[in-house]
Amino acid sequence: MEISEAYRYCPLCGTKRTAFAPARPFRCESCGHTSFFSPVTAVGTVISNSDGQILLIERAREPGLGKLGMPGGFVDPNENAEEAVRREIQEEVGVSVGELTFLMTAPNTYTYHGIVLPVLDIFYSAKIQAGQEIAQDASEVSSWMWTEISPDILERMAFHSNRLAMEFYLRSLGSPH
Ligand SMILES: [Zn+2]
Repeated sequence: MEISEAYRYCPLCGTKRTAFAPARPFRCESCGHTSFFSPVTAVGTVISNSDGQILLIERAREPGLGKLGMPGGFVDPNENAEEAVRREIQEEVGVSVGELTFLMTAPNTYTYHGIVLPVLDIFYSAKIQAGQEIAQDASEVSSWMWTEISPDILERMAFHSNRLAMEFYLRSLGSPH
């Protein structure tokens, strides 16, 4: 179900909603309170090593439990995308990366308990700084790997947007600058 459909009552005054068209935003018929359902912002990063492999994680939670993802997550309030990238990488795999290179953006969705949340993913690439050990957060990451980007790996990605970003990254490597 779309998140707008889950608003059966106004979160401010409690008036029951009568119209259930999948309209966005939600606008309370009684007090006028409006809830927007614009995409939540998330970040993901293609982290590479000196051998040209990239760092992928196996997801320890839904959505996409057991599938592959790149380190990343939701942007916090008052945080810019680059800060979110560095924080999420540190939290999930315990490492620092060098300069961030913007790759692309792509729409995504995140499904929690049957509610489909619209997401806008912002992707970067970065090189891992030398001499660091990966230290995974077991609540989010069940394992990790350095890997080439192969068709099999792309098939195992949890989110189509991540796959698009990895393909974009590969094309960017192939193009002369
Ligand atoms: Zn209301």
